[in-house]
Amino acid sequence: MSLLLIDGARGEGGGQILRSSLALAVITGRPVRLQRIRAGRPKPGLARQHLTCALAAAEICGGQLRGAELRSQRVDFTPGPVRAGEYTFTIGTAGSTGLVLQTVLPPLLLADGPSRVVIEGGTHNPGGPPFDFLARAFVPALRAIGARVEVTIERHGFVPAGGGRIVATIEPAPLRRLERVDAAPVVRRAARALVARLDPTIGGRELGVVRERLGWEGGETEVVQAGGPGNALVLEVERADGATEVVTGFGEKGVRAELVADRACAEARAVLDADVPVGEHLADQLMLPLAIGAGGRYRTLPLSLHSTTNIDTIGLFLDVPIAVEPADGGVIVTVG
Ligand code: ATP
Repeated sequence: MSLLLIDGARGEGGGQILRSSLALAVITGRPVRLQRIRAGRPKPGLARQHLTCALAAAEICGGQLRGAELRSQRVDFTPGPVRAGEYTFTIGTAGSTGLVLQTVLPPLLLADGPSRVVIEGGTHNPGGPPFDFLARAFVPALRAIGARVEVTIERHGFVPAGGGRIVATIEPAPLRRLERVDAAPVVRRAARALVARLDPTIGGRELGVVRERLGWEGGETEVVQAGGPGNALVLEVERADGATEVVTGFGEKGVRAELVADRACAEARAVLDADVPVGEHLADQLMLPLAIGAGGRYRTLPLSLHSTTNIDTIGLFLDVPIAVEPADGGVIVTVG
């Protein structure tokens, strides 16, 4: 198969072009040259998370890599056939374990047997899908199309220390079409404050803001084990059909817990007001799994540059149309 040249500066110019390309190279068997990797970011080239994604993609298929080094802006990847198995990928920083998982998961869904993947690094990173989002929004959406995937967390990892550990089991199964156009009624709202190696009253302060701003009663503080101090406020909105949105506020050194909670509440309020079955993040993360499966249709907010760039990347590899049409102030995305 001919070499596919991919310009990492296109569209958003971020890490997703690399991750989607790695996954799709393994799935299609197409060798790729990725150039100008993450050219749109302040520190271009491969950071630890991206490097781990490249090494992981090569490992699950016995592929060959050239240029896979820290800060490299060019990588050549010649994939082999995907191999189910037991894998451990260690990022070595607080880089997002969820993003490494999303690189190897699509090919392993199509492998010839079950896999178990352990990933070590950050589990709750601003800028990546936090574990709670994976477990309660992303993976359930995959299960809704027939995928047999489970994720568990063995240890939390916050920025900057990392040291988290997640485990995914992936069993190939026939994939069905996804249909999420109508927003079913909201049946559950829940708040959880995660606190590691910090004063646990932080959690109570955040949950107090959630009560005040959103009127959500209850909520719990979970004191968790982690490689270093950290805090995240996890807000969940579940609909009658099981579709769940997870909004996360990330504690930051020097930022008051009330402000962290305030921002998360504003995001949750926006999710509730928009009343779409698929939120901004899930919208970009579902495209690839649907494109390699039986397709689907979902209503979401107007697409982010991240999403439109991902559509372009998928189109370089697969002959699967992805159409976007306006609907109710948002859009309907149709894959396949
Ligand atoms: P860069 O773009 O700098 O290379 P990156 O590789 O870390 O960075 P992006 O390419 O920006 O990351 O991709 C981030 C991914 O994480 C997107 O799929 C986005 O939807 C997802 N994401 C970011 N924040 C959240 C969040 N709070 N909840 C769920 N998913 C998130």
